[in-house]
Amino acid sequence: MKFSNHALSIGSVMGIPIRLHISLLIALPYIMTYFSTPSFGLRLLGAVGLFASVALHELGHSVVARAKGSHIMQIMLYPFGGAAMMSSIPTRPLDEVLVAVAGPAVSLLLGIGGLLLASFYKIPLSFELGAINLGLFIFNLVPAFPMDGGRVLRALLSIKAGRLKATKIAANIGTIFCLLFVAGGLFYLHSFMLAFIGGYLYVVGQAEYRMVQREYQATPIPQAQNSFDVEVGPPPYAEKSSFSEQLKNRFRNFFRR
Ligand SMILES: [Zn+2]
Repeated sequence: MKFSNHALSIGSVMGIPIRLHISLLIALPYIMTYFSTPSFGLRLLGAVGLFASVALHELGHSVVARAKGSHIMQIMLYPFGGAAMMSSIPTRPLDEVLVAVAGPAVSLLLGIGGLLLASFYKIPLSFELGAINLGLFIFNLVPAFPMDGGRVLRALLSIKAGRLKATKIAANIGTIFCLLFVAGGLFYLHSFMLAFIGGYLYVVGQAEYRMVQREYQATPIPQAQNSFDVEVGPPPYAEKSSFSEQLKNRFRNFFRR
């Protein structure tokens, strides 16, 4: 383990370094409160499982991107999700779609696996992690560029409109979703995390659009400006009336019967 640049390196998987951002380490006690078990150890296990789920989602993207010629520099985990940092994202529409859907596909499998395990062995933590993974699957497919669904949208649009125009349209649609996340987070769901994710996605989406613009202006792009594959998980631990909480209550009631 090594601490540098505000992050703790915890090892590497398939040659890809996995790093925990300092904000995640600070937010860990708060994230642990999301899990319903009173046991400290199980809450910690839940938080580790949550971020392992995000890391596996990112590894799904990374493995496919690497097969398509990208170099993966690292996977960074934040309190609100994770990001696989790549030298470039494949630009062929089919390749981009495959890279984009690989992460949600991993989340879907983990979600189904978690729920099956929970139903056979009646493990509440397994249910909660399964629900989180299904949440990751659904939330990341929202077409809010630069989330996975937005990348699929951009790739499909680029077949007809070209990459630059497709990115502009996808980024504009992404902006609408970002505004909805911010407004929904602040005024409806009272989830600061969702509002933060909206703002964060807006900034990153616009930055990526400007990067594509520069590519088309034939201006050399400095090596330091890398493409980011942004991932954000749903903020399940942000507020109590969430979808995940309702599911959890139903699950508990199911076992009481
Ligand atoms: Zn993803």
